[in-house]
Amino acid sequence: MSKLSVLNPATNAVIKELEYTSNEEITAQIDRAYEAFQEWRTVDAHERSAKLLKWAELIDAHIDEIAELITLEGGKPLAEAKGEVAYANSYVKWYAEEAKRIYGRTIPANTPDKEILVGKFPVGVVGAITPWNFPAAMITRKMAPALAAGCTIVCKPAVQTPLTTIRLVELAHEAGFPKDAISFIIASGRDAGEAFTSHEAIRKITFTGSTPVGKTLIKDAADSVKNATMELGGLAPFIIHKDADIDAAVEATIASKFRNAGQTCICANRIYVHEDIVDQYTEKLMTKVHGLKVGNGMDEGTEVGPLINQGAVDKVLDQITDAMGKGGHVSRSLDEVTELGGNFLKPVVISNAKQDMKVMNEETFGPIAPVMAYSDLDEAIKIANDTPFGLAAYFYTNDYRTGLKLYNELEYGVIGWNDGGPSAAHAPFGGFKESGYGREGGTEGIEPYLETKYLSIKK
Ligand code: NAP
Repeated sequence: MSKLSVLNPATNAVIKELEYTSNEEITAQIDRAYEAFQEWRTVDAHERSAKLLKWAELIDAHIDEIAELITLEGGKPLAEAKGEVAYANSYVKWYAEEAKRIYGRTIPANTPDKEILVGKFPVGVVGAITPWNFPAAMITRKMAPALAAGCTIVCKPAVQTPLTTIRLVELAHEAGFPKDAISFIIASGRDAGEAFTSHEAIRKITFTGSTPVGKTLIKDAADSVKNATMELGGLAPFIIHKDADIDAAVEATIASKFRNAGQTCICANRIYVHEDIVDQYTEKLMTKVHGLKVGNGMDEGTEVGPLINQGAVDKVLDQITDAMGKGGHVSRSLDEVTELGGNFLKPVVISNAKQDMKVMNEETFGPIAPVMAYSDLDEAIKIANDTPFGLAAYFYTNDYRTGLKLYNELEYGVIGWNDGGPSAAHAPFGGFKESGYGREGGTEGIEPYLETKYLSIKK
């Protein structure tokens, strides 16, 4: 069988070659995960918690090594990669606690001779599929609650970034999890998707990735009515109202837009600024954006790394060209944007953006910040909501009435008010509409791995 070459997006050099897991071996791995589930489900919550804590300790102890893997295979700057490992581990720590808080309840019966008890039970074997842009965090969000709930899990990382998952699974085994309670496969998404959705032992599919792939998985999982969680694409609006603190809004835009070179599902995709402050905001933003240091993520001081591959570069250049053709003012020439070559793009601001531009309607996944002026807040909310996506949205205002209005009216699952980085292990992350369903993080994030069973006792 052919081998998978894992590439460094900063150099396009091969970092490592891996054997693909054959289809037969994927099936056998799921069978073993099912056998492991029969044991793991009986392990008490305190022991499950203790193993998660041990795993978290090991992840902390290996933070530099894991961060380096993330930078090598995914491209993000090393400091950001370390931040990702800490963030990924915060899910392990949170669900180590939540393992002990899977509570049932009693329900008053309608006759004196009955009692009704409700319990929570692990759903079974979980098939997890994750993207390349957060190779540690997107998988611990699934592994940790699944194991905490008493499920076993087979993980399929993106082919671009499997090394981080492999290392995390090795550390989980070192922490004492049974070998088949948590495992990985090296496979294309198509092969893994088919194997997971067709195998009867898989009772839950958990997926983070693009909306089109999510739709395929939902359809395929429907044949055997599998429980599914879908964390899909976004098109985040970032609204800056006339009473906002402009400097704080600029800082937050940089944090939200240019993290991982603009390749996150909650990146500010479309920036709407009130007409009274748009010139001031855009000028300040441009100065900061042009000051960002672009380069190999392993180099000290790099703030924006490479995009994941040439296809990603082409998509971003297409959005810039389209915006130019529709009257957008791009803050750097195309020659300057591409002057570093390879998968590197210098970040730009597109002022005078219009709603019909591709950059306002397609998930960008790159370092471009389009700024469009608005005069009426209701109109801004309307266009912010006028999309099939509903993952993250941001707004800046110092007026509490405006803030509460935006919170109530924006159709998004994750909202940052004067906050460019709203994600946290202790909060429920997930989308509305075609951005998916189910939540990861918070007390909600363990629910998708649990079934509710009730017992009616006649005395
Ligand atoms: P993608 O193309 O959908 O790939 C994600 C994963 O799905 C990869 O492991 C991929 O496998 C697999 N896959 C591809 N085709 C499949 C199929 N037919 N059946 C089953 N699995 C399949 O997305 P991406 O480009 O890696 O990641 C970017 C997308 O993820 C963006 O849309 C972003 O918004 C979204 N995302 C969402 C969240 C969230 O929490 N909502 C977080 C991060 C990213 P391969 O290895 O073969 O490619």
